[in-house]
Amino acid sequence: MAIRLNAVIGPLAPDPYLLAAAVVADLAIGDPVYAWHPIRLVGRTLTWLEDKLRAAGFDGYGGGVMLFIGLATTSLFVVSIVVGGARLISIDAARAVHAFVLYSLLALGDLLHQVWKIESAVRADDLPRARRAVSVLVGRDTDCMDAGACRRAAVESLSENLADGFVSPVFWYVLAGLPGLVVFKVVSTMDSMVGYKTARYLRFGWCGARLDDAMNYVPARLTWLVIVAVAALLPPYSGRKAWAVGLGQHALLLGPNSGWSEAGTAGALERRIVGPIWREGRKVTDLWVGDPRDPPLESASDVARAIALALAAGLVVAAISVFVLDAVGHGEVRGTVVTGQTLRSDGRVFIRSERWLDVAAGELRGPLVVEVVGDRIARMIPAGDFNQIPDGSLIDLRTATLMPGLIDAHVHLQIGGSPEANAVATLRAGFTTVVDLGATSDVVLRLRDRIREKRADGPRILAAGRWVGTRNGICEFGGIGVAGGPQAFGNRAQENLDAGADVIKVCVSTWLADAFTRPDAYEIQDEALAAVVETSHRSRRPVLAHAISLGSVKAALRAQVDGLAHGALIDDATAVQLRERGVFMISTLASLAGAGTGPAGRALRAAVAAAHKTGVRIVFGTDAGVVPHGENASEFAAMVDAGIPAADAIRSATIGSARTWGLDEQIGTLAAGRVADIIAVDGDPLTDVRALSKVLFVMHEGRIVRR
Ligand SMILES: [Zn+2]
Repeated sequence: MAIRLNAVIGPLAPDPYLLAAAVVADLAIGDPVYAWHPIRLVGRTLTWLEDKLRAAGFDGYGGGVMLFIGLATTSLFVVSIVVGGARLISIDAARAVHAFVLYSLLALGDLLHQVWKIESAVRADDLPRARRAVSVLVGRDTDCMDAGACRRAAVESLSENLADGFVSPVFWYVLAGLPGLVVFKVVSTMDSMVGYKTARYLRFGWCGARLDDAMNYVPARLTWLVIVAVAALLPPYSGRKAWAVGLGQHALLLGPNSGWSEAGTAGALERRIVGPIWREGRKVTDLWVGDPRDPPLESASDVARAIALALAAGLVVAAISVFVLDAVGHGEVRGTVVTGQTLRSDGRVFIRSERWLDVAAGELRGPLVVEVVGDRIARMIPAGDFNQIPDGSLIDLRTATLMPGLIDAHVHLQIGGSPEANAVATLRAGFTTVVDLGATSDVVLRLRDRIREKRADGPRILAAGRWVGTRNGICEFGGIGVAGGPQAFGNRAQENLDAGADVIKVCVSTWLADAFTRPDAYEIQDEALAAVVETSHRSRRPVLAHAISLGSVKAALRAQVDGLAHGALIDDATAVQLRERGVFMISTLASLAGAGTGPAGRALRAAVAAAHKTGVRIVFGTDAGVVPHGENASEFAAMVDAGIPAADAIRSATIGSARTWGLDEQIGTLAAGRVADIIAVDGDPLTDVRALSKVLFVMHEGRIVRR
């Protein structure tokens, strides 16, 4: 139900994080009095409406009902306009306004403050000041009140208002979001302004008073139960008496609701409260609530315990509410997932979020529901058409940013842990496709096959098989370096192709430091390099060159390789050549130059940024295995630091990379017909690419991998 509600009321829907923020703000800064406070606006509108209704002759029951309808409609309309208007600016603006309204309508902090005002006046022996403070809280004569009576009035009011000033608002917010809360506050304002049993208000105020009783019915009893629980757990209180006095004496107090929390509090404190009350010079009651064997509440420590009890109960209610909202928001899918992996039997699921990233345009777009059928995106349903969604199959990702699964074009799943574990870590980090550029055996090729056949978990893999590099060179791992001439190199490439390699990786230069100091040096014969490229192209497989020095890039260009596996120290003329020939460059800045601020690192960053500016296709890649698997997204920050715009960095890991591998009809964008490789991240990656490290949701080929 909450999910349907979210679809209808959008930015007004209950949100656990905003609730937590509002409660903290309410406790920290209370509720300052100012003319435009939402509750005051409701009050002023009420007075205006009441005058109009009475003038028109509606001063009976009907007038009260009209007052409610008019006031509730106006308030809901204004709140929708204000939050909806902010939504036009940005999602964060709407959330800020939402949080502010929520905070303004909670009154626990202010209540505690008022009670403390009474208590501090009593402690200062300033009885007149204490009485004035009491008269703000309760409608009764304060002239005859001694210090004990002031304290009892304070605690009485505290326990009553804990229920209708805090627990009820939170309850209605959890149940029905800002609209629920606003209607409750309208009702409660009506009750306090027109809910009197006087000749003038008996009929006109009836509607507000009865609605107030109804809306507080459940929260009042919940408040009592929470008081019982807190009193049972904390040593200075009696949970048993909170239960017994609440149950036995709640009916002593006027109205169906307020007796529960007041009698519960008296029991919890093991003190009697209320006592004689005077109104308009007459003693209207001489009623004590609490265990008759307990003393009257009158000491400073009694008040301190009462404040601590109310605060603890309020925090418990807030914590439970945040937990419930969080569980509902994230839990809807649980009923539809079998074995945590497969979707409902009809293979149909809907993923909703407030925003999604159109990677091609480099823009965040508004609310969207993605319909997934099997392993494909069936439809992209824009805002306003949410009523097409059947119940029980919606994953609501709230304000997380939906985007296509990421592609890392340079990993080594064999390095730094087991290939299987590394594959899962990579996938969970939101990388639904990787290109594995070298291993010492065909282990990654076979893992690729098992994942493809759904016999193992992991991202879609394109793999190079074994490195093709010179004996004792940069890609020498355990004796796999090739000894011999062009024939031997061609044979190695062919062995990889026979084992099912998707690409061929050939090692041309050494590492960055050496490439920086000896720009012309590289470690493979031109003829051997040409043999590798010829062999691969015969099988229509691209060749990627590990080529970081300028000389090695020039050699790679001469041999007609298809891409560079790393960022390279190229000059402008070479960058132009790369662009003209359509040779791409995989960035790998995080692993090569991420931490290094030395001259080589700076030169590499500058060269990659300049190549990007020149128009060389930069493809996102990390050399994961050198950086830990699962931290692939660290490359985004490295690219942005080097001067590549965030939108371009993101394209280089999505649509741009997909085109490079000829997979752009399958992956790289969110669009109907594409493979359902969908992730959601926390935040706006266009303004802060570190959001791409905060992955909240991963779907790979229609299967939920992370949530
Ligand atoms: Zn590598």
